[in-house]
Amino acid sequence: MGSPQRNYLNHPLADGIRKVGFRKWYERELLSSHAHMVLALLATIAMLGSFEAFRGGTLEEKLMDVLFIIASALIGLWALRRYLMLLGHAEVIANQASCPSCDEYGRFEVVEEDRRNQRMQVRCRKCTGLWQIED
Ligand SMILES: [Zn+2]
Repeated sequence: MGSPQRNYLNHPLADGIRKVGFRKWYERELLSSHAHMVLALLATIAMLGSFEAFRGGTLEEKLMDVLFIIASALIGLWALRRYLMLLGHAEVIANQASCPSCDEYGRFEVVEEDRRNQRMQVRCRKCTGLWQIED
């Protein structure tokens, strides 16, 4: 099992943009990031519920509650981290999505992908100007 950071870096950005175009890709990344935010909220609610249940109950039930609290805290933290990572990444790419020559936003195609240095050469669909986007 690799670390999440590694998986995240391997995210096939250029493939995604090639397949659906930048705007759709960006939209999907935002949706995915917001889904993780919702998950983080649900985990927080579950955690608060377990705190509430902790007050009554036998020792055994209290132990179960503690397990639930730990589990929901871990899920919540993971989801929150993922939310921020996906959102941050989408923004980093979006900030480089305007053509430097004609200012057209988000209308480019991937010309070449440099996976090792995590950059790609892209071409503006409007003026055919070239620039690089760093992942
Ligand atoms: Zn252009």
